Amino acid sequence: MSKTIAVIPGDGIGPEIMTATLHVLDALDCGLTYDFVDAGMVALEKHGDLLPKPTLDKIAEHKVALKGPLTTPIGGGFTSVNVTLRRHFDLYANVRPAISFPGTKARYQNIDIITVRENTEGAYLAEGQTLSEDGEIATSMIRVTRKGCARIVRYAFEMAVRKGRKKVTAVHKANIIKTASGMFLNVAREIAKDYPQIEFNEMIVDNTCMQLVMKPEQFDVIVTTNLFGDILSDLCAGLVGGLGLAPGDNIGEHAAIFEAVHGSAPDIAGKGIANPCALLLAAADMLDHLGMVDKGTRLRDAIRDTMANDHANVTPDLGGKGSTQSFGEAIARRVKG
Ligand code: ATP
Ligand code: MG
Repeated sequence: MSKTIAVIPGDGIGPEIMTATLHVLDALDCGLTYDFVDAGMVALEKHGDLLPKPTLDKIAEHKVALKGPLTTPIGGGFTSVNVTLRRHFDLYANVRPAISFPGTKARYQNIDIITVRENTEGAYLAEGQTLSEDGEIATSMIRVTRKGCARIVRYAFEMAVRKGRKKVTAVHKANIIKTASGMFLNVAREIAKDYPQIEFNEMIVDNTCMQLVMKPEQFDVIVTTNLFGDILSDLCAGLVGGLGLAPGDNIGEHAAIFEAVHGSAPDIAGKGIANPCALLLAAADMLDHLGMVDKGTRLRDAIRDTMANDHANVTPDLGGKGSTQSFGEAIARRVKG
């Protein structure tokens, strides 16, 4: 099979971790061809535009992109490139797996939680933020639509079926935010009936935070609205040791963009010590999305094996003495299997 994907190396440590990631994908023999495009600071410097049209066109054409971290300059009225990409392609599902890996300084082991966050509505509407003329009253609006709730809940259940997951927990605050969160909950209850093979559970967001910290093993797939999903997915990343191993998948009807959750880390850029694992895990999710589930699994297993048995080659953030390159090569050797 031959498939072309758009590749955005990105800013800061982006090009380094992307090189390592593509090296591993090549070793996996996925038959992927890479169409390199620019976005972020690199694009601003080269083309005078943070998100040039050819980049958008290539993502639309290939429908799948692997993306390094992008920096948006502070001030100057620039809209975040990441936000613009999400809006442009209507990437409504933000999927954030949190998986335990050996040899990390995490508080828990054996965690495997996927948070599915609605990414286009809820509390994140620009027009929902207003300030009264005298500056004394600030208003933020939460707005959800039945269609928006339905498509995110359906995505979570379909994903659960596809990945052989057992349980979906809908997280809400319907007792207080009666209309918006209430609609989300009602829609979730309705859609859950279409999936009798998946256990359905509902939980209020404050209790969810406590339960995640006290008994995280009870969770499998979490589905929730935009703001709760933002907070809970970072909480889950914290349970498994932070953002260094956190991939983020942004899925829409017509395009999907896979990325690391962490930023461009300018403090370590160019030093060759950035951990490539978050981007590699995003690449594994991309392989699942492209129907190459066996290769995605092989990639995750190789990462796990390297972290457990080849500590010399892991990067300093994980306590090793390795480099981005040596870590990538150690994983590449193992995916060949
Ligand atoms: P940005 O402005 O793009 O968000 P950032 O430096 O805030 O960049 P973060 O991801 O928030 O990026 O990084 C926070 C800290 O984590 C930094 O000190 C950075 O060096 C470290 N870090 C982030 N990603 C990695 C990585 N892949 N490997 C090692 N350290 C990382
Ligand atoms: Mg940051």
